[in-house]
Amino acid sequence: MFVRDAYVKYLDIGEARNVVMNPFLEKKVIETRDAVLELFKGDELPNICDNKNKCTSCPLKEKCFDEKLIKQKMSLLS
Ligand code: SF4
Repeated sequence: MFVRDAYVKYLDIGEARNVVMNPFLEKKVIETRDAVLELFKGDELPNICDNKNKCTSCPLKEKCFDEKLIKQKMSLLS
């Protein structure tokens, strides 16, 4: 069963926007899912996103950009 449309709620601006599924978006969702599954199989972190504007409202940004913290956390995995 496929979801044909849904809402994304942006908590920081208190707005919900409708997202209608189309073949392009469906392909992108499946590709993204597969990329995330591959990421979980490995032990390397992905590169930090070049566009930091995407992280502006993220509550994890202080930790995410703290290389020392990330290295410390990664060392616990090995
Ligand atoms: S977790 Fe947050 S801060 Fe880190 S890359 Fe994703 S959006 Fe940016």
